[in-house]
Parts: sequence; structure tokens; C-alpha cells
Amino acid sequence: MIWQEIGDRVFTRRYDFFQQQIGVVLGGRDVLVVDTRSTPAQAREVATELRQLTRDPVSIIVDTHWHFDHTFGNSVFRPAAAWGHVRAAARLRADGRATIEEVAAEIPAIASDIRETIIDPPERTIEDRATVAVGDRMVELSYHGRAHTDGDIVLVVPDAKVLFAGDLLEEGAPPSFGDSFPLEWPATVERLLPLVSGAVVPGHGAVGDRGFVEGQLAAFRRLAELSRAVEAGRLDLEAAMREELFPGPTPDDAFERALAQLRGELI
Ligand SMILES: [Zn+2]
Repeated sequence: MIWQEIGDRVFTRRYDFFQQQIGVVLGGRDVLVVDTRSTPAQAREVATELRQLTRDPVSIIVDTHWHFDHTFGNSVFRPAAAWGHVRAAARLRADGRATIEEVAAEIPAIASDIRETIIDPPERTIEDRATVAVGDRMVELSYHGRAHTDGDIVLVVPDAKVLFAGDLLEEGAPPSFGDSFPLEWPATVERLLPLVSGAVVPGHGAVGDRGFVEGQLAAFRRLAELSRAVEAGRLDLEAAMREELFPGPTPDDAFERALAQLRGELI
């Protein structure tokens, strides 16, 4: 079985590509998929593998945020309803086409596949929260502040005690900071803690628990603290970067974005 059941009729599948976690929630005849991967071909792989769980078609997709590896498979699952944050939908609409060529240049292995992408942003957009019926059960979508992007949403399946956190959390590698707001990230993750009552699924890496969320929270707090010390001239950037916060070296753009925030450059 390639799917891992992490709660009653709630599954994840971790793909080698980017170590990405794709989620599935089954309820009645509904099939909800969390994030749609990087290309239509990758999304079709999900659709094929879903047949191990159900013969019903995907009826709902949820994009945790606008990044290509979470949204470029959307069109494959239509006519499913698509949910996402209002700013994620807008960003995908504005920048999706350009992103195709950027990623094609950066990752030649998926260049031809990604050029098949039909940019297909979510039409069921939320600002703060929404409850989505999945057959006989309810799933809660919510936004908790800027962090990995300005439009990350999380998904809670209360009757299965599962939290899908998208890229607000990442296991086994440093989070991605390119579009992030590092100074706000700790407060956003803090607001996830009350939602944790069982399994926690990061956007990439292994499924975790409350301890995993607390560990990530401590790392984000420390990053903000180190950045403030650098900005105040109390610490060298090189020394700050040597401290291991996440698995592996802290990416340059973690501090770049945090310092830009402290200088008031990221509004
Ligand atoms: Zn992301």
C-alpha cells in the first residue's frame, strides 16, 4: 500500500519528487485531495494511484498555497471544486504563466511536463476560514497569518484528528523562504498549536505530531531572534548563519527576507 492511513479515511502519500506529501480525505462519495503537485503528469500519477483507495472521482481539491508544486496539477482534477486562499488564487493568476518557464529553466527534468500546465486557480477562495462538506464529514480550512507565503491555508479533519499544514511546516529539510515573511512565521505556527490533536502533515517530509510543530516553532522563533541581533549590530550575519536551526544549512534567503522585514522593505 503506497498510501498511509493517518486517521479514519485520511491518507497521505509521500512522493520522492521534493519529498512532497499529498493528502486525501474520503467521505461518502466525495474525494478531497490536498495539493496537486508540480505538473499535469505528476497529478495524473496521483489520480491513477487513488484507484487503490476509491473508484470515485476527485470532487474537491485544496491548494494549501500558490507555489507551483502545490497547484500546477489542478486542471487534471476538474471538474472538482478548488479551494484556496484569495491571495494564492490571485498570485497564481498573475504569475502562473511566468512561473512555468522559470521552473522549466531551473529543473530541466520536468521542463517538458511543466509546459503542459494549464494555470487553473481555485475559485472557492477564503480569507479566514471555511467549512467544506466531504460526504458525511466536515473539513475546516483556515488562514492564520503570513509565513511561508502571504496566503497559506491549513486543513483540519476534526473527526480524524489530522492537520494538513502545507509548507508552514517542513520535515527533513529547511523550509522554503523565497516568498516568506520570517518575522511573522512564529506567530502563525503558534496559532496552529490549538489545531493539533493527532497527526500533523507537513508540505514536504515525514508526518509528525505536536512535538514536531513545537520544534519548528522554536526554530522560527530563533531565526527571528538571530535576525534582530544581526539588524541591531550585535551579531555577525555569518555567525547567525552558522547556527543550525533546521536540518542542513539555513538558506541565505531566510535571513535576507527577515532582515528586509526588519528594514520595513516587505509590506
Ligand atoms: Zn511552498
